[in-house]
Amino acid sequence: MKVTFPHMGNAWIVIQTLLECLNVDYVTPPPNSKETLNIGTQLAPESACLPLKLNLGNFVQGAALGADTALITGGVGPCRFGYYGELEKQILQEAGYDFDVITLEPPDGSILGLLQRIRKLAGPKNNWRKITQALLFAYRKSVALDRIENTFHGYRPLVPDSNRVDQLYDEARMNLLQAMSEQGITEVLNWLSDKIQEEKVCSYGENYRDKKNTLRVGVVGEIYTVLEPYVSMEIEKELGNLGVLVDRSIYLSGWVGQHVFRGLAQGYKPIKPYYSLAKPYLNHFVGGHAMETVGAAVKYAQEGYDGLVQLLPLGCMPEIVAASILPKVQEDYGIPIMTLTVDEHTGKAGVLTRVEAFVDLLERSRIYKDHKEGVLELAGR
Ligand code: SF4
Repeated sequence: MKVTFPHMGNAWIVIQTLLECLNVDYVTPPPNSKETLNIGTQLAPESACLPLKLNLGNFVQGAALGADTALITGGVGPCRFGYYGELEKQILQEAGYDFDVITLEPPDGSILGLLQRIRKLAGPKNNWRKITQALLFAYRKSVALDRIENTFHGYRPLVPDSNRVDQLYDEARMNLLQAMSEQGITEVLNWLSDKIQEEKVCSYGENYRDKKNTLRVGVVGEIYTVLEPYVSMEIEKELGNLGVLVDRSIYLSGWVGQHVFRGLAQGYKPIKPYYSLAKPYLNHFVGGHAMETVGAAVKYAQEGYDGLVQLLPLGCMPEIVAASILPKVQEDYGIPIMTLTVDEHTGKAGVLTRVEAFVDLLERSRIYKDHKEGVLELAGR
């Protein structure tokens, strides 16, 4: 058995770690690209969600590298994610790929089913103790990765040299990929913290941007689109390069902690608090991440963020529901919100133009707000 799996941001580092800990033979497909999307688009129905198309492209590219088994994520709930696994399996088989498919889905459906599939992936050579250790270690790495990403969201807008930030980010990810012990993970996090401190002091000095005046933007939306930079057109990075501090509402470990470990493990940025915040606007589950999107939007608005960006793939029903609610949040809190829908025809240049215009608008709102507060202060109110 040679396993391949789909890309979703840095998730490949976590999956690779899990498979290595279990001694499972695997191939990591090349990162998402135009070619990956073209392959998936040819195989999938036209109306299929963008993540499904890219997943299919990943599997086919994995097959070209010798994979014969696809590790697929699945889901439960009213949106298409509920039958993703089965659909991908059928499409691959119809396209002539004699793939075995292992679908890992949250235990809401059947805990026994999930355990059986994990057992199938791990094979007879791993006992349950080893499997549990491997799962927990991979999860710990996922939390560390999310921490690293969040660190860079805070660091990037303050540094004028974006290439240096990219280099350091890649170095941190590769160091974490190689860390195969708890101690190793801690060392990478400490190394990064020292490195950032050192670069702040030595390299940038007076060029270091002023943290006080940095615009703050929250990024919400469908998890795959938010996490996968090829799909989001690297919007978080672009905002950072424009001097905006980005805060991402949802991370892989936060989602896994809530949906797979049922809240027993605290992932990075737990998503549970979003549900109560979303309630006045959306009080029942509509699939996908609509409740997280609405709840996170309310949280950012209450915390005084300057703006919000919602990311969604074209035709994503739960996010369309969220998008229809966000104007109400915007009205209640006066926070500007930009909704960005992506599909296989989306071009990066167009997205960048919209992002720049949005940042411009936020800057003007900030100036207007500061001016208004100044006038009120002078008037002694
Ligand atoms: S959440 Fe949206 S993109 Fe994801 S499977 Fe459901 S409909 Fe498709």
